[in-house]
Amino acid sequence: MKTQLMLTVEYNPVVTDPESLATALDRLLTTACSTPGILDEYGNPAIGEVLVVSASEPDQDNRPAAPCECEAPGFYDSGVPGILAHRDDAGQVAPESGVERCDLCRRYPSDTAARARLVELGMMPQAAPPSRYVLYDFDADELATTTVYTDHGQAVDDASGLDNVIVVALPIHSHSDHTQEIP
Ligand SMILES: [Zn+2]
Repeated sequence: MKTQLMLTVEYNPVVTDPESLATALDRLLTTACSTPGILDEYGNPAIGEVLVVSASEPDQDNRPAAPCECEAPGFYDSGVPGILAHRDDAGQVAPESGVERCDLCRRYPSDTAARARLVELGMMPQAAPPSRYVLYDFDADELATTTVYTDHGQAVDDASGLDNVIVVALPIHSHSDHTQEIP
């Protein structure tokens, strides 16, 4: 006798697709079935390959039944389901502002992916915000000058002419992955 069993899989379309899931399930089954005696009481049936029967569009069946919190109007309503970010009046997200993926519906695997999506949609510029630097006198525990540099090289040049001074990057509140090396 033969039978067909059905399996419903809820997945994140950003990280995988139905074919890959079928392959993963095949691998899982093969591993599980290699356990000696595991299917003895079922008469050791021969299990075939996992096949993709249907693939629903992410925008249809995978959407939660009720709108997620990230889709509710508000300050952090980015207009893109699954992404939390504040838009200005022109519908743009400032490059220095934070972008977070919604942890409830997890449509995006990470905050970085959410940000990349906004860049892709043309809602925010790709470039990281310009970094700013100040000269800090670690002996006196105060700023060496009130100058704020946007050019790191220039800041280093000026610092080298002063004693006990290091170049410090000003923390700009940003969730970007842009990190600044301070020599
Ligand atoms: Zn959400």
